[in-house]
Amino acid sequence: MRSQATLSQPIRVHGTGLHSGRSVEVLLHPAGIYQGISFFRRDTATTIPAVAEEAGKLDYATSLGAPGRDVGTVEHLLSAAAGLGLTNLVVEVDGPEMPILDGSALPWVRALQRAGVVHQAARIPVWRPTRTLSLTGPGGKHIEIRPSQDLRVTYSIDFPSQVIGRQSITLVVTPDVYLRHVAPARTFGFLADYEQMKSKGLARGASADNCIVVGDDRVENGDLRFPDEFVRHKVLDLLGDLALVGQPVAGHIVASRAGHALHVQLAQAIREEAARSGMLVPAGIDSSWAAAGR
Ligand SMILES: [Zn+2]
Repeated sequence: MRSQATLSQPIRVHGTGLHSGRSVEVLLHPAGIYQGISFFRRDTATTIPAVAEEAGKLDYATSLGAPGRDVGTVEHLLSAAAGLGLTNLVVEVDGPEMPILDGSALPWVRALQRAGVVHQAARIPVWRPTRTLSLTGPGGKHIEIRPSQDLRVTYSIDFPSQVIGRQSITLVVTPDVYLRHVAPARTFGFLADYEQMKSKGLARGASADNCIVVGDDRVENGDLRFPDEFVRHKVLDLLGDLALVGQPVAGHIVASRAGHALHVQLAQAIREEAARSGMLVPAGIDSSWAAAGR
């Protein structure tokens, strides 16, 4: 069990959507116990719980909700919230995409810390696997979660790019490790793909200020924050997508060449496993569930 936590006051964040290029305003609100994390799209008056069943488009970024009422690029904020141990939060956004900020989770962490994280008078169970859950995707993509006392991530990537190549990292994810070794890692994009993505209506807000620009043989926009910043960003994305379990998780996640689709499939598999064993915490309910003594 772990303390539930929310913000002590609302906070406003402004930025630009990476794919839409639109200016976006986000209001992060405190939420009551057992409310979980949810998104509220102000322009369509739609509430979307941040759980794996709500996942929509998963190419390039994670979106939640039905087409036309969805919110895209939710994973960096969710990663920051999970990294700080926030369990209850309402994310009000005035359009279809979260702002990209600097491409990492650090500006979200700073905003959440500025608002203040407060513990609440209720606990939430940590889900732990009793057996290994394993999923594979096309092209040698693989992800699994094995029993482990703490939350541990081993991530490996292998890109056909001399700038990235093979990178692998193992981290025991504590708040301190998250803040120092994961949150600052920025998303990345290949210069060679940029025009093609723009023609598909993507990456309209991309700039040298919000992603690592990967050229043929070098990073085009300054120094990396870590020599292995690319694989660290994959860990950041994974932790954001894993927040779609809707409750904290402890286990050893081993991911190889995975991405949003496989991350979200794992979150979904965990929710199904938790539901089978009566351990799933339903989102958006309060006293009746808590009174049952879980
Ligand atoms: Zn990302």
